[in-house]
Amino acid sequence: MITCTRCGNETWASELVTRGGPVMLAGPHGTAPQPVVARVCTACGYIELYGPQPIVDQPAVSEATTAQNVPATAPAPLH
Ligand SMILES: [Zn+2]
Repeated sequence: MITCTRCGNETWASELVTRGGPVMLAGPHGTAPQPVVARVCTACGYIELYGPQPIVDQPAVSEATTAQNVPATAPAPLH
């Protein structure tokens, strides 16, 4: 459990979402962009942002994320 650094209440995980889709953070060299993770405190409104976690470290999380979002994580090629 990650607690709020401001008030100590429990936070919950979410994504930053726009009308065009989730806000992505370009990964290290050679890796596809992945969604930014937000930890939100509903008690005081404090939000912390976390960069994408390496897929190899958390396979279960990456599978769940893939199932909920567009299957292809690679950006569409530009013309
Ligand atoms: Zn808080």
